[in-house]
Amino acid sequence: MKQKKEAKKKRFIFSNINIFFTFLVLVEIVITIGFAIFLQWILESILQITLSSTSFLLLVGGFMGSALAFLVNRIFFKPIEQLSQGMNEVAEGDFTIKMSTNSPINEVKELYNSFDLMVRELGATEILQSDFMSNVSHEIKTPVNAIEGYATLLQGGEYSDEEQEEYIDKILFNTKRLSELVGNVLLLSKIDNQAISKNEKKFRLDEQIRQSIMQLETNWTEKDIELDVDLEKVEFVGNTTLLIHVWDNLIGNAIKFSPVGGLVSIRLKQSEAKIVFTIEDQGPGIAEESVKHIFDKFFQVDSSHKQEGNGLGLALAKKIVSLNSGEITVENRDAGGCRFTVELPLVFR
Ligand code: ADP
Repeated sequence: MKQKKEAKKKRFIFSNINIFFTFLVLVEIVITIGFAIFLQWILESILQITLSSTSFLLLVGGFMGSALAFLVNRIFFKPIEQLSQGMNEVAEGDFTIKMSTNSPINEVKELYNSFDLMVRELGATEILQSDFMSNVSHEIKTPVNAIEGYATLLQGGEYSDEEQEEYIDKILFNTKRLSELVGNVLLLSKIDNQAISKNEKKFRLDEQIRQSIMQLETNWTEKDIELDVDLEKVEFVGNTTLLIHVWDNLIGNAIKFSPVGGLVSIRLKQSEAKIVFTIEDQGPGIAEESVKHIFDKFFQVDSSHKQEGNGLGLALAKKIVSLNSGEITVENRDAGGCRFTVELPLVFR
């Protein structure tokens, strides 16, 4: 079906070229005859040289025909032929190709520009997809290998109760990691192509954030983190189930990167123009050169925390916030540590 369509399209293009070419040949014949008559008149009446009309026509026609063929070939067929070669290379997976032409025809130049743009876009998508897939595969492989390793250990030997418990803990830890990764990848792929927020409803943002803090209680109590929480009563219209991921990630990270006994401050304020959520910690902050990549998928500044995350949380947070027409930013604090700010619009419904 597709092939039939392509063949039809090809036939159409060629019929257009044929019309164009036929027109050119007709123009050439008229010019040739006119020019031959004119030349014959000059030779006969001024220079008194006599040649038969047929010889004239043959001579001038031959010259004009070759000139025309050269011209058409150079400005039209050659660039199209080059483009067709370029297309074959792209079809074989080479997205580095860059085409240029010195054809004076604007349509041909535009065709080249569009082709280059298309190849660049295709290349970017291909890099994104292959990077994403290789990152996912790598992230999946690590916990799966660990689970397999500890399970094999348990299967094969005589171990004390403590050792067995340790191996089982490791298996559970890696299973949790794997399930978080798969959950994040699924969520990301679900919302990645979404342009607008769906399933919106009115809810209390402060209560949702409080719920997230309570859910992470084990994490902050284990590290003896002091929490300074000040949440104004704020109502918001948005996607509740998605937004909870944002607070879980930002609060989870602040705790994860804080030193033992550190202070984490969480604020939620509503002004006349917007809703502002900030979270500050006393962790290592983020190196200046990494700030611009912090919301990229799978980006992690410091590999020593690799075991505790997958680098997808902030990419998800950014996508969710922008789906809710908001903005998320990060800055390092003068006093050390960093501050994440989420700004959301006031939505009245
Ligand atoms: P992860 O699962 O690795 O935490 P995220 O996308 O949530 O993934 O974060 C990406 C990276 O950003 C982290 O690995 C860490 O390097 C950096 N980061 C995030 N939050 C903080 C923070 N509060 N302090 C320091 N670095 C942070």
